[in-house]
Amino acid sequence: MSHDVPHQYADQSLRAQVVEQLQEWLGDRLITTQAVRDQHGKGEDSYGCMPPDAVAMVHSNEEVAQILALCHQHKMPVVPYGTGSSVEGHLMALEGGISIDLSEMDQVLEVNPEDLDCRVQAGVTREALNQALRYEGIFFPIDPGANASIGGMVSTRASGTNAVRYGTMRENVIGLTVVTPDGRIIKTGGRARKSSAGYDLTHLYTGSEGTLGIVTEVQLRLHPIPETIKAATCQFNDLKSAVDTVISVMQCAIPVARIELLNGLQMQACVNYSKLEGFEPKPTLFFEFNGTAASVAEQVTLVEELAASMGGSAFNWAETTEERNALWKARHQAYFAGLAMQPNASVLTTDVCVPVSRLAEAVLYSEQEAINTGLTCPIVGHVGDGNFHVLILFDEASADQQAKAKGLSKGIVAKALKLEGTCTGEHGIGFGKKGYLQQEHGEGVDLMRSLKLALDPHYIMNPGKIFDPVP
Ligand SMILES: Cc1cc2nc3c(=O)[nH]c(=O)nc-3n(C[C@H](O)[C@H](O)[C@H](O)COP(=O)(O)OP(=O)(O)OC[C@H]3O[C@@H](n4cnc5c(N)ncnc54)[C@H](O)[C@@H]3O)c2cc1C
Repeated sequence: MSHDVPHQYADQSLRAQVVEQLQEWLGDRLITTQAVRDQHGKGEDSYGCMPPDAVAMVHSNEEVAQILALCHQHKMPVVPYGTGSSVEGHLMALEGGISIDLSEMDQVLEVNPEDLDCRVQAGVTREALNQALRYEGIFFPIDPGANASIGGMVSTRASGTNAVRYGTMRENVIGLTVVTPDGRIIKTGGRARKSSAGYDLTHLYTGSEGTLGIVTEVQLRLHPIPETIKAATCQFNDLKSAVDTVISVMQCAIPVARIELLNGLQMQACVNYSKLEGFEPKPTLFFEFNGTAASVAEQVTLVEELAASMGGSAFNWAETTEERNALWKARHQAYFAGLAMQPNASVLTTDVCVPVSRLAEAVLYSEQEAINTGLTCPIVGHVGDGNFHVLILFDEASADQQAKAKGLSKGIVAKALKLEGTCTGEHGIGFGKKGYLQQEHGEGVDLMRSLKLALDPHYIMNPGKIFDPVP
């Protein structure tokens, strides 16, 4: 778990002074108990826990600025924390330091239904935002499987099942308030639908994984709740037919709202975990159609024809809102359903994304390679975007299984890059995928290093993530 550290961070006595100063400012909102530090030193992954020296529960932009100025002055590392649902070792405090927890900055600051936008504090979760919008006839569509914070979702450039229709965080973030590593509060972007004013700092911070500054407020695009929403599933005898259906739907530009793939093993896991009835453990597509009644009817007819031509079963409709919610809840719980197949196993999650025309090649290759390892590896994906996850379950105590898991993950990424895809469609690089970034971006990573040093000269922000300071 090594990474190059050319930076001299605060020594133990200076760290103690910083913690003491923060305690004076924050009182009992500065926490040093082992349990809370441990909780903040890991995400939902198997990379292990590296606890920070202390956890600061922050309440305002000014408070974050004051803390960062102090940490900058004393070269104290800082790791921002949303809800801890990231999966690539993003939150490990590799150099110790202060975990800045934004979960209590949880206010929806303004909603502008007439312009379809809103401004929220970074700690608002995606579910809380939609709860706040429920009487406005509008919604925020980005839905990672976890109830993540908006600040965390900005920072990993997250997406979810709706991205095929509504885009990812990249398309739905229009402005930010960011506290820079030296404690300045800056605003980026704005409420205008478009702007050509200068460098696009909003999208520099979107996806920066807490390595360039702390996002404290986010201006988001919202969408009208569609007049008609219909959801259905369709099962296939083989994986290729399911994936070929997806490719045809996307190539025909049918504007489906969601199109998700579960392979036979993942389907079996979801049937058991979410008590789904009436399904076989076969490759399955989950669909959702949004629009006017007429446009939904037209989309359904086209997609049913395409699926039938590939040998898909008759569509199984989720008729009521409750049935629809149960279906998507099962989809969102697919990760935990997969983990439940082998309790106590460690997990590596791949997240490759390829051009849709190459999807069949990538998915079929991955499933076959997974079978060859003998490990349990369910596959689930936001396939309309060309993005899918292989959940590789393995026994940490077995060197053989560990090597097979890592080899499989590596092979899947190598295949995706060969197909002109990316090693991560939505989870980010964090600690776990650093090795792949160089393969994907080559010299581009040097430019990223230059940007990092210009914006965070003491390298205090989430050190050891995305890339190492020295090639
Ligand atoms: C069951 C499950 C399903 C998932 N499904 C999806 C999915 O479909 N799509 C998807 O994209 N992801 C998915 N994820 C991953 C995860 O939910 C996302 O990465 C999410 O964006 C993380 O948000 P968070 O609030 O939990 O952030 P955290 O995990 O707390 O932090 C993530 C990263 O962002 C940084 N950070 C957090 N808040 C801020 C801030 N305010 N300012 C600056 N940096 C910050 C942290 O330092 C860290 O590097 C899933 C995870 C799980 C466990």
